[in-house]
Amino acid sequence: MILEIKNLSKSFIDGKKTLNVLKNINLSIDQGSIITIKGPSGSGKSTLLSLIGTLDKPNKGEVIFDNENVDLIKDLNRFRNDKIGYIFQFHNLISELSLKENVILPREISRKKVDHQEIKDLFKFFELDDRMHSYPNDLSGGEKQRVSVMRAIINQPSIVIADEPTGNLDQENVFKMIDLFKKLNNEHNLTFIIATHDNEVFSIGDIKLQLKEGHLKNI
Ligand code: ADP
Ligand code: MG
Repeated sequence: MILEIKNLSKSFIDGKKTLNVLKNINLSIDQGSIITIKGPSGSGKSTLLSLIGTLDKPNKGEVIFDNENVDLIKDLNRFRNDKIGYIFQFHNLISELSLKENVILPREISRKKVDHQEIKDLFKFFELDDRMHSYPNDLSGGEKQRVSVMRAIINQPSIVIADEPTGNLDQENVFKMIDLFKKLNNEHNLTFIIATHDNEVFSIGDIKLQLKEGHLKNI
């Protein structure tokens, strides 16, 4: 079990009203599985992923990562950089850095060695051979998003969290992204937690969940 969520609740204060966005959520995730989550806009998908990704704290409940309560982790920045890959709807690449520099940034932050051949092979795996020295603005939307996936997985994270990863892509690139997720899952046993509106992306889940009115249910 790579991740366990126990009795997780999250609410926000909106003026005088309390918004109970997540109500007592429980979830267990095995290493190497793909979890997909759908739900109406505003149902709390991003909130749930933020809690799993330790970017926000719950009001109640626990996130247990590889048998460790994330509340007790001292250096959360380091933990995130080493253990979690993040993919968002917008690629968030740094335009002043080359693609290679963008991709190896998490590796450099953790002061781990960067092997040129490894990076070359990675660009090839992502069908972006020969683009290593290009800049984000030289790429199409689909290509940029593929680079952001490379950056998310460069440190071989325990889980990859993707929040509407294809929300900004055309259909052709949605299919490319789906193939990539499946290939990374098959060949590298990467664990994915994906929130999506796209039915095709949703369908790749080993476990498919719907978030509605604060509760998660299996579909
Ligand atoms: P989804 O990703 O499913 O569209 P979100 O998790 O973004 O949903 O939001 C769930 C609800 O929580 C929404 O009603 C949203 O307005 C509210 N919300 C999210 N973040 C905050 C915040 N930081 N402060 C106040 N309300 C928030
Ligand atoms: Mg969202």
